[in-house]
Amino acid sequence: MQLFTKQASRWAERECAPEESSAFVAAVSDSGVHVTTAHDSYLINLASPNPLLRSRSLESFVRELGRCESLRLDFLVSHPGNFMDDRAAGIARNAESISEGLARVPGRTTLLLETTAGCGTAIGSTFEELASLIDAVDVSVRARVGVCVDTAHIFAAGYDLVSDFDGVWARFSDTIGWPRLHMLHLNDSKVPHGSRRDRHELIGEGAIGAEAFRRIMTHQRLAPLAKVIETPKLDDAEVTDRRMLSLLRSFAA
Ligand SMILES: [Zn+2]
Repeated sequence: MQLFTKQASRWAERECAPEESSAFVAAVSDSGVHVTTAHDSYLINLASPNPLLRSRSLESFVRELGRCESLRLDFLVSHPGNFMDDRAAGIARNAESISEGLARVPGRTTLLLETTAGCGTAIGSTFEELASLIDAVDVSVRARVGVCVDTAHIFAAGYDLVSDFDGVWARFSDTIGWPRLHMLHLNDSKVPHGSRRDRHELIGEGAIGAEAFRRIMTHQRLAPLAKVIETPKLDDAEVTDRRMLSLLRSFAA
């Protein structure tokens, strides 16, 4: 299960009160949900060259981590930042902010850096860049950093899940390595391979198509991982999401 712990497009923060948190933890344990993650605010840019925006982002990131700890979530999914000026400097700033945030909030939640489509100055659209970002995180907290691969994002970033499925995952294994991969966002793509845009489509109805998802659902390394859909909801979110989930489960069968 993936959730937002506050409004994702506003800076306003919130706390998770103890009663609220314990009610949530009890509800999760009764639900059959085995893996829980939050997705952090879209406003956070831990790589910003603007000191004010970066410190505001760090405060918000720390609060995100704090709510994850209160709710005992397994993961916090976070997009790497936008470097804005210089890529290498941006990666260094991003790693420094991540290190400080994790040091300020000790706990159980693992930070998952999500692969990006590579729009504008977004960091993290290649496996090599995500690996170098993780390598730059302080060694004292680096074990708390993993990766979430979004199929729509990597496809848009140039990884061809349609004609080179095994090659894409071999590159992942060679750069980031399987032990860092904890979650997949399963989304088809409205936009073509390599278009560097982030537009999610229903599973099997976009440029990626059903076959790659069938292979993910039966892959030795990928099948056991937690998976989240972020596909369009159409008229009825529950009906559409259930249709997507049963389609994916049929691939696994
Ligand atoms: Zn995603």
